Amino acid sequence: MVYYAHFFPDLSEYPDLKSWLIIVCLVSCSPVLLASDEPGLWFEDLKGSADRQALYQVLHAMPKGGDLHSHSSGAVFSEWWYEMALEQAANGYVYYTKTRIMNCRDYGGDEFGQPYLLYFSNIQASRWATLSECEQGEYKRLSVLTNVEKSAWLNSIRLDKPHEGRDEFFQAHWQRLGDLTANPYLAVEAVVRNIKAFSAEGLIYMEPDFNVFGAISADGTPVPPDEVAELLRARLRQKDVTNTGMVTRFQLAILRFLPGAPELLKPIYTFLDSNRDLWVSLDLVGREDNDKGYPAKFLEAFREVRRTHHGIRLSIHGGEVDEPNRHVRDTLILGAERIGHGVNLISDPDLMLLMRGGPYLVEVNLVSNLLLEYVTDFSQHPFPEYLRLGIPVALSTDDRGMWDSTMTDEFFVAVMEFNLSWEEIKQLSRNSLKHAFVSDELKGELLARYNKRIAAFERSMVRGGMARLNSPDCRRFIRNHYDLCGQN
Ligand SMILES: [Zn+2]
Repeated sequence: MVYYAHFFPDLSEYPDLKSWLIIVCLVSCSPVLLASDEPGLWFEDLKGSADRQALYQVLHAMPKGGDLHSHSSGAVFSEWWYEMALEQAANGYVYYTKTRIMNCRDYGGDEFGQPYLLYFSNIQASRWATLSECEQGEYKRLSVLTNVEKSAWLNSIRLDKPHEGRDEFFQAHWQRLGDLTANPYLAVEAVVRNIKAFSAEGLIYMEPDFNVFGAISADGTPVPPDEVAELLRARLRQKDVTNTGMVTRFQLAILRFLPGAPELLKPIYTFLDSNRDLWVSLDLVGREDNDKGYPAKFLEAFREVRRTHHGIRLSIHGGEVDEPNRHVRDTLILGAERIGHGVNLISDPDLMLLMRGGPYLVEVNLVSNLLLEYVTDFSQHPFPEYLRLGIPVALSTDDRGMWDSTMTDEFFVAVMEFNLSWEEIKQLSRNSLKHAFVSDELKGELLARYNKRIAAFERSMVRGGMARLNSPDCRRFIRNHYDLCGQN
């Protein structure tokens, strides 16, 4: 069994007993726990100890599988954006951000398309140069922000205030990022930062989306998709990336509600077909409470591209919406093998019955679903129903940069809110690898690697390995929602 030593009696009055205990501890116990060799029992005891910090430490150090649902731009922390934007001076990019609004435009502009009245929209110098003198004065170079401005800039792309939710995320965060998301060099470095960060959290596989369309050079001219792909390919071959051992594959995403979105399938399938070494899948993204992007709208277009292309995998957002509807069902009919979010699958019991035991996996994003208000608290989340009815699920991070969270946080939330067993935790990690869009051979290698690492971790925990674990930093989401890292 495992015993937690949260407090000790004052032993100063018992010098003999104190010496004896020190000797016993020197030979048999770590500073925090003594462990059992019964499978998973040490984890039950860890949960029972109510020591949240210790639980977080273990979940951080724990080997993990993959992240199957992450958006490259949304996965970038605010401070990373800032640092990388300034670093891009080396590639000729200089960025400006809007720090003042001086009524330079006439009334009646399109605030929903290209909002003018939006602080901290970011543009590159080539675009700034085309603005009127009045509008140029509204912007400031990112490199010369005052401390107050910089702090506000960092906060402007975090979803961390009580009044911020789905609308702020969909209608302000992405619009603010602006030209920052069109710089292919910056996008590549963002992927590299995430590879390193996820690797440090114990992940061995990532499958984020990475856009190759719409990239622009420092002078504003377009960068062709193949050139962007080559930049990424070359960077991933460098030693600091390969040293992590991370296996990375990418998806391409279509913003589902845009006019003409189904017509984008053809060029995207053509790109995917000829870049199969790295790009493995297609996704449909964007808010599903916008009726323009409903899944059945894409059915004919998918059938058409399937007539000429084979082997393109599909992981598609479905059921990330408040109302009960057929989105998950219709998304499977499109050919999806994995469903992103699947929050409203719970409202379709017939489909749930069909999904028990696989083969389709639901990519669950607990933190995202809370912050974007698809659940008002975690007790409403259908994840434990899916998990415990045998519908394959895996945890993923979605736009973690904007939530300011990590994969450890997703596991921590799941354990705290749904009392996950150690076996369930391992099942989630294994699911994330079993449903990766890689060859059977590579999948086997990844699973073997995970099994070996988790077995070693379990052995070390049973032997009292708590003392050897690092104290990880907590990011804002977990600090704000749980009593961790000395702050609430
Ligand atoms: Zn997503």
